[in-house]
Amino acid sequence: MLTPVLQNLLILQDRDLKRHALESQLKAVPDEVAQVERKIASEKAAIETARTELRDLEVRKKSLETEIGSTETKLAQYRTQQLSIRKNDEYQAMGHQIELTQAAIAEFEGKELEVMYAIDGAKARFAAAEAVLKANIAGHESRLATLRERDANLRAELTTAQAEVAAARTPVEPMRLRVYDRIAARNLPAVVSIHAGKCGGCHLKVSSEVESAARGKTVDPVAQLPTCDQCGRIVYWES
Ligand SMILES: [Zn+2]
Repeated sequence: MLTPVLQNLLILQDRDLKRHALESQLKAVPDEVAQVERKIASEKAAIETARTELRDLEVRKKSLETEIGSTETKLAQYRTQQLSIRKNDEYQAMGHQIELTQAAIAEFEGKELEVMYAIDGAKARFAAAEAVLKANIAGHESRLATLRERDANLRAELTTAQAEVAAARTPVEPMRLRVYDRIAARNLPAVVSIHAGKCGGCHLKVSSEVESAARGKTVDPVAQLPTCDQCGRIVYWES
């Protein structure tokens, strides 16, 4: 038969454990929210990367088109000039210039083609990145809604649990509360039973003095709370 002191401590401990569990669950929520938000951010970043790549390629294509245009204008001018050249060597020099300009145009056009292929690739990557976000966003959002709901529920449960802890502390004498609080701050559960001579907290063998005290044989259990010699938890005998 447990003493009223131990009964009260066990009730307090039970409520403290519940409060503790709620606190740990509540503490985990922001991490889970951050994890989902990181996932959304990385999917958005992938879209941005593809968008930037596409924009850069389109700028490059425009500038190549401009260069092709101005080089073609130059080519037309050279051809016109060539018509009025009478000296053979000057005519040939202009002919060479025309060839060089044509080669330059061909090179620009080759580069433009490469850029056009790259644009196709970038468009595909952009579409794929967008599809990934679109496919996942509903899941991400419902996960966030669930987490917000869990947070609110846990807070409400915690408020109740805290009130229950406060109520459970009332019947325990201040001296015993101090002892309990000191142990509970390090080790919860702070009050454990002895089974087969072993402490229910650290599972090490308790001394025969402690066991006798817990059985209420040597020390009045109302006056003093026996503690495990190994871990310092309050121990009681459960027959
Ligand atoms: Zn122990």
